[in-house]
Amino acid sequence: MASYLASIYGTEQDKVNCSFYYKIGACRHGDRCSRKHIRPPFSCTLLLSNVYRNPRHHEQDCTITDSELQAQFDAFYEDMFVELAKYGELVEMHVCDNVGDHLIGNVYARYRYEADAQRAVDALNDRWYDAKPLFAELSPVTDFQEACCRQNETNECNRGGFCNFMHLRYASRPIRKELNHQLAVELRRRREEGRDTAKGVKKKMGWKERLALEQGESVDAGEDGSGSEQTEKAEAKRDWRSGKSGGDWRSQPRVAEVNDELARGTAEDRSREHL
Ligand SMILES: [Zn+2]
Ligand SMILES: [Zn+2]
Repeated sequence: MASYLASIYGTEQDKVNCSFYYKIGACRHGDRCSRKHIRPPFSCTLLLSNVYRNPRHHEQDCTITDSELQAQFDAFYEDMFVELAKYGELVEMHVCDNVGDHLIGNVYARYRYEADAQRAVDALNDRWYDAKPLFAELSPVTDFQEACCRQNETNECNRGGFCNFMHLRYASRPIRKELNHQLAVELRRRREEGRDTAKGVKKKMGWKERLALEQGESVDAGEDGSGSEQTEKAEAKRDWRSGKSGGDWRSQPRVAEVNDELARGTAEDRSREHL
């Protein structure tokens, strides 16, 4: 009996546990679901709920062109990727373009180690993106092929954005290629430095970044007092590590590049109010 229950756990035959939550990490019934959503105490996967805002889903009379939409998405993807890569060996990252409340804008990241996913969840729950607080949790999703809508992959899903399986949006191929390359280089460097040292470096970066962000500065502008060779190396890669938008993680809404100056002014005002 026990092995039978184990074999149907989280499948449609399982009358106790919700197969949608188990497979996709989110179910349209949320807390009111008649089946159980058991949050995993340990997992390599984390979920950041409702982060990506596709203007076509959020703005009425949206006139954005396909290429503008893709460029905005690429910038978002890069922001997420570089941030998530800081916490450990990132294996894969996916962004949902569904419209239903439980899946809209969801970002999933899978790490090689559970401890890294936990560290990312703890850190990200204290962070903001695009002027909104982030909500991170460990997710039971392990197999993204199972979680994705197969019909959507061939453009044949008739449920559209309201489908309860993941409809992913993809970053442009050159962006993905470059980020994966940078990540491979970075992971090799961390491995060479030894895991313990790498952790120290990460901790230091996190602290400095947080301070810089709290002072409303761009991360790029942060000064490094230690002046060692390692710092120089880190400096060379800082562009990549700080992401496309640099310091706008905490409070600056993503707006058209033209309005950049204006938005920076608003962000500064806001941070001054906090002082
Ligand atoms: Zn459910
Ligand atoms: Zn679908």
